[in-house]
Amino acid sequence: MSTTRDKHANQSRWAVPVAQTVSQPGETQELDVVFPAPSGIGDDFYGVPEGSDIHVVGTLDSLVNGLMFRGTASARIVGRCARCLKDISHDAMVDLSAFMPVTVSKAAENDRLGRGSKVSETLVDEMDEAEDVYPLTGNGEFADFEALLRDAFIQALPLIPLCSPDCKGLCPQCGIDLNKNPDHHHESHDIRWDALEGLKQQLEKQDGATGE
Ligand SMILES: [Zn+2]
Ligand SMILES: [Zn+2]
Repeated sequence: MSTTRDKHANQSRWAVPVAQTVSQPGETQELDVVFPAPSGIGDDFYGVPEGSDIHVVGTLDSLVNGLMFRGTASARIVGRCARCLKDISHDAMVDLSAFMPVTVSKAAENDRLGRGSKVSETLVDEMDEAEDVYPLTGNGEFADFEALLRDAFIQALPLIPLCSPDCKGLCPQCGIDLNKNPDHHHESHDIRWDALEGLKQQLEKQDGATGE
């Protein structure tokens, strides 16, 4: 029934307890954790499937006003080639670097009777504008990696996923895989010829009808 345990129960699946490290500037805390992939990294077509493993290794360095995290995250990216629709997957490792400031909740801030709150508000406002800032949660007792992992992997996803850089894709006319059929082409199968052929057949039918 410890309060720490109760607090942890309220935290997300990506929260790491850091209260001890935060309270001792200069301390470092090693991290080697497998998190479930958060939602929203890519989509069904291409991305890191929600709930699959993301292996995070790194170090949390305690500063006066928060933690600095540096490390790497590894996950398997799966999906389909945008040109030939073949299933593709590969292991990806991204560098992580984030400042995790101690922020004080509004309620806790009010309890402090305003002492020093103006200073911390200004500090947080300034830090919010900088990139890669992920404030600690649970009144500074937890480092939450959900948003950090999502952001890092979204940035790492290619705009157009391809099975290989020179994928030839599918034939736009019949859909055959041009990688497996490099010599494939359509002899005089131009859509304009199709239209003429249709017109010819129509005229022939009409001729037949009037002939009867
Ligand atoms: Zn392809
Ligand atoms: Zn074709």
